[in-house]
Amino acid sequence: MMTNQQLAELIFPDIKDNIDDLEKKYPKRDLKEGAEVTRFAPSPTGFLHTGSLFTSMICHKVAKQSNGIFYVRLEDTDTKRGIAGSGEQLLSQLKIFGIIPDEGYLGSSEKGNYGPYIQSQRADIYRTVIKQLLIQGKAYPCFCSSEDIDEIRKKQEAEKLLPGYYGQFAKCRFISNDERAERIRNGEPFVIRFFSPGNHENKIQVHDLIRGDFEIQENDQDIVIYKSDGLPTYHFAHVVDDHFMRTTTVIRGEEWIASLPIHVQLFEALGWEAPRYAHLPVICKLDEEGHKRKLSKRLDSEAAVSYFLEDGYPPEALIMYLMTIANSNFEEWILQHQFKHMEDFLLSFNKISSEGALFDMGKVNFFAREILVQFNKEEIYQLAKDYGEKYNPELLELINRDPEYFKQIMNIEREKENPRKDYEKFGNVAELIGFFYPDRYQKLIEQGLTYNPKFSNDEIIEILINLKEKLSLDQDEQNWFENMKSIGASLGFAGNKKEFKENPTSYKGMVGDVAEILRITLTGRKNSPNLYYVMQILGAEESSRRIDTVINLMKK
Ligand code: GLU
Repeated sequence: MMTNQQLAELIFPDIKDNIDDLEKKYPKRDLKEGAEVTRFAPSPTGFLHTGSLFTSMICHKVAKQSNGIFYVRLEDTDTKRGIAGSGEQLLSQLKIFGIIPDEGYLGSSEKGNYGPYIQSQRADIYRTVIKQLLIQGKAYPCFCSSEDIDEIRKKQEAEKLLPGYYGQFAKCRFISNDERAERIRNGEPFVIRFFSPGNHENKIQVHDLIRGDFEIQENDQDIVIYKSDGLPTYHFAHVVDDHFMRTTTVIRGEEWIASLPIHVQLFEALGWEAPRYAHLPVICKLDEEGHKRKLSKRLDSEAAVSYFLEDGYPPEALIMYLMTIANSNFEEWILQHQFKHMEDFLLSFNKISSEGALFDMGKVNFFAREILVQFNKEEIYQLAKDYGEKYNPELLELINRDPEYFKQIMNIEREKENPRKDYEKFGNVAELIGFFYPDRYQKLIEQGLTYNPKFSNDEIIEILINLKEKLSLDQDEQNWFENMKSIGASLGFAGNKKEFKENPTSYKGMVGDVAEILRITLTGRKNSPNLYYVMQILGAEESSRRIDTVINLMKK
C-alpha cells in the first residue's frame, strides 16, 4: 500500500527542502519589544482603491510608530484578475501618499531577506509546506470536477444541509493512496485540499484588535489550498507568507473576518503561532434609499485614489481625512498641530471603529484647503506646474504664458497672517483664475454676465462709469474701500448693511452691491479672490478697458 510519504513524493518530486529548512532560511526577526511587522498585500488589479489606501496607511503607521517594519507583498496568484504592470503603478501611487515600504515588493525591484515578495515566485515555498501536510495526512489531492461539486451542492440543498466540501461530502478524503497515485499517473487533473479537523457545530473564540474577543463558527470545509495551475489559494498563501515573512500583525479589510476560522485552523495544523489580526471597517457611501453601501469602483469616482491625483488634490489631504476615519481623536489633534507633523500622532487600534465610515468629500476639501494654504507662492507655483504637466494641459498653458503673473495671482492674500483658503485642489484653478487672462475673460463675458436683477442696465452703467472715473488703485486696501463707499454714497448706496437695513427705502442698495457689480464686471464671476488685489494685478488700464467693454455690451 502506498504511504503518504510516497504519495507526496509522487506529487512533488522536485521538492527536496522541508519546513525546517524554510524556518532556517526565514528566521524570526530580531526586533525590539513591541515592534510590529505589518504588510500591505495588494493584488495587481490595475487600480488603487481608496479603501486599500486606508489599509496601507494604517499598516504603514502601525509599523512606523512602533519602530517595526512595513513591507509590501504582491498577491498575484489569481492569474485571471491580474493586470500586467499595475503592481508598479500601485507602488508609485503609495509613494505619492508617503507610504514607502521598508522592505518587500517595490515595483521594479524588491528588498529584504524574506522574499521573494511576489507570490507567483514563491511556488516552491508553498509546495514545500503542502508536501509536509500531505505526508502528515492533513491534505489530500481532490479530483472532483465542477459537475461533481454541483452534484454535492444539490444533494445538500435537497437535505437542507450546510453547503460545501466537508465531512462525508468531501468525497476525495476517502480515496486510497493507491487510487490517488494511479489517477495522478494517468494525468487526471487535481487540486489539493486541506483536511479540516473542524465541525461547524462548534464555536471558536477569536480575537481582533479592533473588535476584541468574539465567537465564530469553527471551520469544517476542506478548502482548496493548491490549485491545478500550481499556485496556492489566498487562504493558504496568507498563512504561509505571514508566517515565513514573520508578520506580527495582519491588518486587512473586514471582508476577511468570515474566513478567519480557516486561517486559525491552518496555523494550528502547521503548529505555528498565528499573527494578531485587525480587520478594518469598509468605507461607505449612502445609496439612493439612504442605506450604507461600500464605496464602489464602478459607481463612485472617489473610490479610486487616481481620482484625487488627477483632480490635483494635495495627497496629504486624503491621508489626513483617512486618518480621521481611523481614529476620531485625530481631527482635534491635527487642528492643534496646525495640520502639520501628522507622523507624531499615535494611532491606536482600540479607537478604530468597527462601523463602516461614510466617505465625506467636504472633509477632504477642508483638509485640502488647510494644506494648500501653507505653501508660499513659489511652492504653489511648482506644485501647480507639476500637476499641470502631469494631468492638466489647460492649467499648464496658463502658467507658462507668464509664470510671474501666475505667481502673483496665486499669492493673493497668501503670504500673510491670516491667509485666505481659496483653493482645495489644482483641478479647478484654471477655471477659477481664467478671468485674469484677457482671452478667457472675453469668452466669459461673451457667455453673458449675471448681475443682481434688482438693478437696471442704466443703473449698472452709471455705477461703472463712476467707479472707472473715481476709484483710484493708488491707495491701500482700506482707503480704496472707503473710496468705493463714498462713490456708492454719491449714487444712493448705503455704506454698510446695517445702515441699509435701518432705512431700506432711502437707499438703492449698499456698498456690497456696488462691489458685486464691479466684481462681476472685472472677473465675470460672483466669487473671486479679494477684488482689491485682483484689480492691482489686472492694473488700472486693463480694469478700465474691461469696464468699457461691459458698458458697450450693455448698451447694445
Ligand atoms: N490580496 C488580498 C486583497 O487584496 C489581501 C488581503 C490581506 O491583506 O490579507 O484583498
